[in-house]
Amino acid sequence: MYKALKPGDTIGIIGGGQLGKMMAQSAKKMGFIVGILDPNQNCPAAQVSDWIICAEYADKEALREFARKVTVLTFEFENIDAAALREMEDLSAIPQGSEVISITQDRIKEKRFLESIGVSVAAFELVETTDQLTAALEKIGYPCVLKTTRFGYDGKGQVVLKSEADKEWAAALIAENSCILEAWVPFSKELSVMIVRNQRGEATIFPVSENIHVNNILHESIVPARISPIVSEKALEAAQQIADALQLVGTLGIEFFLTKDDNIFINELAPRPHNSGHYTIEAVSLSQFDAHIRAVAGLPMPKPRLLSAVVMVNILGQQMEDSLALREKKAEWSFHYYGKEGNYPNRKIGHITILTNDVEETLKEIEDTGIWSKS
Ligand code: AMP
Repeated sequence: MYKALKPGDTIGIIGGGQLGKMMAQSAKKMGFIVGILDPNQNCPAAQVSDWIICAEYADKEALREFARKVTVLTFEFENIDAAALREMEDLSAIPQGSEVISITQDRIKEKRFLESIGVSVAAFELVETTDQLTAALEKIGYPCVLKTTRFGYDGKGQVVLKSEADKEWAAALIAENSCILEAWVPFSKELSVMIVRNQRGEATIFPVSENIHVNNILHESIVPARISPIVSEKALEAAQQIADALQLVGTLGIEFFLTKDDNIFINELAPRPHNSGHYTIEAVSLSQFDAHIRAVAGLPMPKPRLLSAVVMVNILGQQMEDSLALREKKAEWSFHYYGKEGNYPNRKIGHITILTNDVEETLKEIEDTGIWSKS
């Protein structure tokens, strides 16, 4: 157990993308010094932080130097070498530990962990050879999804298999990566819960978000989710159970599938603030980023208060210009831009938060702009 940080102490964040940037903004608000480690000198988080070590994430010497310079170390993504993180525990406090990283960066470990604590996941098989693929397909059947066990995000590193004809794509993925074959979950909705826990086991659990993906990339989050109170309760309970089993410190984003008969399956875990939790910045009494910093700084965790119903919509690279034109017309909408260097297609470059009294009307208003139907 470590003492709560004081203003003037330093929080180091590995990764300087938009999540690191929003963490840094929360940390600055609370009076902490913020250091970033990122390969890009001009990364979003560097724009709001005190200093940056510009180095690759695999650069062990740079990681050690970073750890020596900070009071507490945290991260904005899960693809950090868990062994390197463990070595750094002598040099700085790492309240989140390395275990949560090692579980969540590997889909097989993550699924096995979830099964072991008795929460529902889609049927799955480890697939490393074409023979294993054939055997797994026999067990699981079509449709199913083949995913790389590591480094997948926004639908990258995965293929949906609908019939024998798709096996060719699958073989190509297996040739390069260790994979997991997952049964298709015929979901009626996708949901997520952000839970943030400190070392004393106190947790801030945010309301369930309903998430709509387009081309496997999060498009909209709607809160409150349009689900029954019973489903909401189930999702929140599962979140608490997972966090307790992990002895979580910091933030966990939990993605769920909801089926028509109101069963929930866990899709995946992210040991960090999550895109579907961005709504908390304007719509909740504290944001997921504030909560994360509080947790790693050893502060008590408050009960969040939802201040308004809300819709969050992502802005991708190809939507930059249109979103700026929209900003002229929608003074009530909160436009966030991450300060990334290139507006590449399908790259998340910002988001908009819309507080609302009428979710359906707001969803229609977003659709009527025509911006998001172009992509
Ligand atoms: P993931 O990277 O695992 O979060 O997958 C990205 C998206 O693909 C999810 O948000 C779902 O929309 C879809 N997807 C992934 N796995 C499944 C599955 N087993 N059944 C149905 N849809 C899935």
